[in-house]
Amino acid sequence: MSKRIPYPEPIVSIVTEKCRGCGSCVLICGGEVFEIKDKKSVVARMEQCLECGNCEIACPSNAVQYQVPRGGAGIMYECG
Ligand code: SF4
Ligand code: SF4
Repeated sequence: MSKRIPYPEPIVSIVTEKCRGCGSCVLICGGEVFEIKDKKSVVARMEQCLECGNCEIACPSNAVQYQVPRGGAGIMYECG
């Protein structure tokens, strides 16, 4: 079972000046977090992030910044 604790601050951000609107982050993201607006990627649904970090790896412009959420936030799994 899992539940989600709201992030105190976003864990994914876009450096807009570096983004060239290629859409790789949109395609790679399983949480559908990103959208392209005015030829730039924006974080549209931070609350759907799966905390995989793929967006940072996939961006050819080094425009995505991902940080592991602080303890006590994000997706929490219950075992047992
Ligand atoms: S992968 Fe990088 S350059 Fe491409 S749209 Fe996303 S943020 Fe912009
Ligand atoms: S960390 Fe994963 S789920 Fe979250 S925005 Fe990046 S690609 Fe999407």
